[in-house]
This record gives sequence, C-alpha cells and structure tokens, in this order.
Amino acid sequence: MRSPVVLLAAPRSFCAGVERAIEIVERALAQRGRPVYVRKQIVHNAHVVADLETRGAVFVDELAEVPPGATVVFSAHGVSPAVRTEAAERNLSVIDATCPLVTKVHAEARRFAARGDTVLLVGHAGHEEVEGTLGEAPSQTILVADVAQARTVTVPDPSRVSYLTQTTLAVDETAEILAVLRSRFPALRGPASDDICYATTNRQESLSTVAAEADLVLVVGSTNSSNSVRLVELARRAGKPAYLIDDAGDIRPEWLEGVRTVGVTAGASAPPRLVDEVVAALGPDTVLERETATESIRFTLPPAVRRP
Ligand code: SF4
Repeated sequence: MRSPVVLLAAPRSFCAGVERAIEIVERALAQRGRPVYVRKQIVHNAHVVADLETRGAVFVDELAEVPPGATVVFSAHGVSPAVRTEAAERNLSVIDATCPLVTKVHAEARRFAARGDTVLLVGHAGHEEVEGTLGEAPSQTILVADVAQARTVTVPDPSRVSYLTQTTLAVDETAEILAVLRSRFPALRGPASDDICYATTNRQESLSTVAAEADLVLVVGSTNSSNSVRLVELARRAGKPAYLIDDAGDIRPEWLEGVRTVGVTAGASAPPRLVDEVVAALGPDTVLERETATESIRFTLPPAVRRP
C-alpha cells in the first residue's frame, strides 16, 4: 500500500473543546480515582473512548446507570436542563465538560425563547448536542434538518422567530437552509456570531483546499462524529472519492489504485497520532501541508478540576 504524495489539511484533528473535555476526564481520574462515570461518549471518537476506559472511565448512556453520589462527567456535546435536574436528584457529583461553544448556543436558546420567539434549530435529529439544545425550550423549539424541512416548517407567529444551528454542520449546506428560512420568515433573527464553531469551519476550509488537489480524500474520524462525516460529504461534493476511517487499519488497498495524491484530514475529535499512523501506512515519497488557518484558542477548565 503506497501513494506518492500525501497532502495534509491544516487545521485538522483535536479542537480546543475536545482537548478540554479529555483533560477534564483525565484530571477527574487523577484527583478522584477510578471509576469516573461519563454520560455518553466524552467526544465522538472510538479511540479516545477506548483509551479512557482503560484508565478507569466508565461510559454510560443514562444517569440511572451511575451509583448515587458518584462522580459523573457530562460530555462535550452538552446536556438538557432535565439531565442536570436528574443528576441533582441522584446526588451525583457533576463535572461539566460541555464545550463552551455549545454552552453559548444553549444560552441563545434560552434568550430567544424568553423573548417569546419560536426557535428553529438547524441540526441533525438524534445528535446529542441537538437533544441538549432542544431541551432548553422544548415547547418553543422546532428542529430543521434540511432544505426540504426549511421549505415546509410552520411557526405560530412568523414575526417572532429565531434560528440557531448545531456547531458541527456543513457551512455551505447550512447557508442554503438559512437562505430558505430567511426568504420564508423575513423577521428571522439569529445569533450575533455563527453557531457553527471555528474548528468546524476551519477544518472544512482546509479540506476544500486539499480536495481540490487530491485524487482521493481520507478523513480520520468515527462514524458518529458529525464534523468528521461532514468532511467526507464535503470532499464528495467536490467530486472526489472520500472515505471515513477510524484508523490506518481501515484503509483498503483498492482505494489507492491509480491514485497519486491522497488528501488526509481528521475530524475535531480524532487524535493527531492516528493521522501520523495513516500517513505512515500510506508510505508517501512526499508529505505536504496545506494550512488555511492557525488556531490558538484554549478554553479554561471547570473549577472542579482546575487545581493541578
Ligand atoms: S467541534 Fe467546535 S463545538 Fe465541538 S467541541 Fe470542538 S470547538 Fe467545541
């Protein structure tokens, strides 16, 4: 298995919200000992979850699986107020690893609903982040998943309507959905700054540059990682064959037949070492990087784990 040129997209791999969430679990384990329970996958990556499991993290789907009084970490995708209430009722010691950029969307949902608006939440049904945001004002929020739903959604009062988006959507597809909503609801109001986060936007921009030059695109990430799946779709919309791989072991030799240049990137929840392993497996003569942005954002840790 060999390809002459590998083009690396940059930025790629871990974002500030993912690094913070993983560090929170690591610190909780160091400070409180094992087990530390984590509600849902801390971030959507099979390798990250497996690694933390070996170190004492116990991942659960529901708080009912956590013994009363135990420590539980909320994942980077955020939770609804109902989950916070349940945690308090079960007397759990909560450490919140919700990405601050998801917390921002929750605050907007509360603010928009409080002024009496119907909130149109653009996002994917069933995604944990969407479920958490919907839970802020369930009776006033309507999920809009695509352009077709944007064309048909109805609201009680078209003069009082706002929108929010999931943080990990495709920038181009979301712009189409919002254009439809704006044309149907001229009074539509939105957040002061985009909800699609800097990391999602940057990874899509760098991948677009790489896909333009590549014969094949490989995206390192897990199938439940929204921003990773969006990267694959973006490359395919650019007309290039693209595959989502959890690690180098998923690369199929037939994908590389006749391929000279392989574009490689990784979703925001995929560890950088997996990218290194993919590049090593491809065995290229040349590795080039296409950097379209630099990232220096860091988020502070929650007080519960801030001491070293
Ligand atoms: S992808 Fe964006 S919203 Fe999600 S954890 Fe990273 S920075 Fe936060």
